[in-house]
Amino acid sequence: MDPFALFEKHINPGLAGLLRFTGLDRVESHAEGVYVWDTTGKRYLDFLGLYGTLNLGHRHPKVVEAVKRQLDRMPMSVRVLVSEPTARLAEKLAEITPEGLEMVFFGNSGAEAVEAAFKLARIYTGKPEVITTQGGFHGKTLGALSLTPKPEYQDPVRPLVPGVKVVPYGDARALEEAITSETAAVIVEPIQGEGGIRVPPEGYLREVRRITRERGVLMIADEVQTGLGRTGRLWGVDWEEVAPDLLTSAKALGGGVMPIGVAVGRREIFEVFKRNPLVHSSTFGGNPLAAAAALAAIQVTLEEDLPARALYMGRLLMEGLQALARAYPDLIQEVRGRGLMLGLEFVDADVGALCVAELAERGVLTAFGLNNPKVVRLEPPLIVEEEHINQALEALEGALQATRKAFEGILG
Ligand SMILES: *Cc1c(COP(=O)(O)O)cnc(C)c1O
Repeated sequence: MDPFALFEKHINPGLAGLLRFTGLDRVESHAEGVYVWDTTGKRYLDFLGLYGTLNLGHRHPKVVEAVKRQLDRMPMSVRVLVSEPTARLAEKLAEITPEGLEMVFFGNSGAEAVEAAFKLARIYTGKPEVITTQGGFHGKTLGALSLTPKPEYQDPVRPLVPGVKVVPYGDARALEEAITSETAAVIVEPIQGEGGIRVPPEGYLREVRRITRERGVLMIADEVQTGLGRTGRLWGVDWEEVAPDLLTSAKALGGGVMPIGVAVGRREIFEVFKRNPLVHSSTFGGNPLAAAAALAAIQVTLEEDLPARALYMGRLLMEGLQALARAYPDLIQEVRGRGLMLGLEFVDADVGALCVAELAERGVLTAFGLNNPKVVRLEPPLIVEEEHINQALEALEGALQATRKAFEGILG
């Protein structure tokens, strides 16, 4: 049976249906840099970048090389001895994250990074409540899902972890009002990714930092998607020069080659491990293979100054998108984002979905936000070249023309 049919039969029939609808009932074959090929030989520009994972593109040679070297040496840690790549990565993360973040918990995904931050916040403060934001996305394991206020994901599995409060994103005053004597932490994305590339008002993160500090509440910055240069700065919080108490990173941290997730925090918070060294742990978290990938990924990100590149290329892409938004006001409502974390808000989710399908047909991969289907996300690798951006914009223009034609007479 062909792999797509197997996927539909044994993995996820609903998702298979959605993929078929967007014309992506295809099987991937191989990838390099900004390109992916399917098994029919069709080539795609990857402007989705695994939702902010592929900052270095597919199979960056330095990451692949580091992983191969570690693979031939020792891919897994025995855990009762200390792993050198893991220890070196912890040192590096302490160096490159904002001031005061010195200690690292290792997991294997964004959700696990968030779970760790959630648990550490409760253990350290001895308080149960965590405040999250509307439209926020923090993962789908039960703890992380409890911080992801979306009925479609939460309702089928209730009861959730208790003690979570939801406030509007970008509204520091609402957040301040929600804090009680039982609040352990606030979790916030510097820019909401799955929520539809929502950039908060200027000064929001600084206000959240001021309020949480004054009220003795921990600030958790979820940088799983915004981290490692995506927004044009190394971290999303760098835009407002804010140092949170805990910072989560995952997606791009593994260099697009290995899965890894971390919660980096202040030393006092990690004192909980002095009292109880195994209060939280993971068999695979920070394994040498993933750590080697992350060390190489960080090195490439800094050496090639990928945050600056994201800023420059992001500006070019943004200008092109704004020109298209002016030409297609009947389809596009807004263009927003920062660096190479950009979103196109369509007038309606069906228009966006058709445009995604038309783009795929023209060899450009994108997708809509999980929490906001009206918004199509563009998160190409940070190594993208000007010619790729022009190719994508040209394909988008064609896709918009086709979409307008399909909806003619339906949209006023
Ligand atoms: C993707 C994402 C997560 C979850 O990461 P997974 O690796 O899919 O578990 C958490 N937070 C943010 C901000 C994300 O974008």
